[in-house]
Amino acid sequence: MGKTKISWTSETWNPLVGCSKISAGCSRCYAAEAAKSARLQQFPQYQKVKDWDGTIEFVENQLLKPLSWRSPKKVFVCSMSDIGHKNVKDEWLNKIFAVMAMCPQHIFQVLTKRPERLLEYFSDPNCARWICDEVLNILSDEANPGKWKFKVHGDEVNIKIPLPNVWVGTSVENQKVADDRIPQLLQIPAAKLFLSCEPLLEAVDLTKIYRISNLTQTELTWLDYLHWIILGGESGVGARPCHIDWIRSIVQQCRPTNVAVFVKQLGSNSIQSTPYIDGVAQNNFQLKFKDRKGGNIDEFPTDLQIRQFPE
Ligand code: SF4
Repeated sequence: MGKTKISWTSETWNPLVGCSKISAGCSRCYAAEAAKSARLQQFPQYQKVKDWDGTIEFVENQLLKPLSWRSPKKVFVCSMSDIGHKNVKDEWLNKIFAVMAMCPQHIFQVLTKRPERLLEYFSDPNCARWICDEVLNILSDEANPGKWKFKVHGDEVNIKIPLPNVWVGTSVENQKVADDRIPQLLQIPAAKLFLSCEPLLEAVDLTKIYRISNLTQTELTWLDYLHWIILGGESGVGARPCHIDWIRSIVQQCRPTNVAVFVKQLGSNSIQSTPYIDGVAQNNFQLKFKDRKGGNIDEFPTDLQIRQFPE
């Protein structure tokens, strides 16, 4: 909990723990393994989700943590759960997004494999009011009178969706998942929309037509609506292969667009294919890195040494 080695964020915040597997990207879920570890089994919330069977625990004593961090941070929300899981109650989402609304100094990176659930939540016309009510609850907490500051107008707080400091993303490991999840993600009202393509398990085409512009009648692709893409191969013992050309292809798809790209790691089983004859790789060989996750940017091929954030 807290400080993290994940290179695209500065802090993790876990007001929820627990999940269940949903797609190929989950099969070696880091969180499921970590939850069973002796280190985390000291905490009651992890004892209750040990089976990773969809039980989700709301961890009240973690909820207000970001309010006490004065200096601005990028905060990865729910690294030990999926905030879009069907077992996450609306009342928990209200509390979690209320804390985000009260922390304009931070950027919150909300990543889910179930974007349809967040779309459903944000589509409710009462959503902003629920979040406002939770902000008022937090401010009026008798245990901490006057502890937290937030501008109140009479009995109202002014909160509009999308929250300006909340980025929402979905995970994409293969084309099928991209086809299913990205059209859902793109309908979510968010300050920035992003993808985490990690572990990338095959080549993915992100240039599919999403809509025709009403103004110019031009065709707009998924990439016209996205702000950020994180790329990475799988890490750890038994990692599935990630061909470096799958990562390179997405970097190249983003090049003519405004999408920021963050190459996090090439993975523990990074494959280089060469040479290509008529589009067919003649040889595959595994790249060896000193960093076991292939996460040292200095070891990347120069065209993949890219770690951008959205503006
Ligand atoms: S959605 Fe995330 S936390 Fe849940 S099982 Fe999959 S990888 Fe693990």
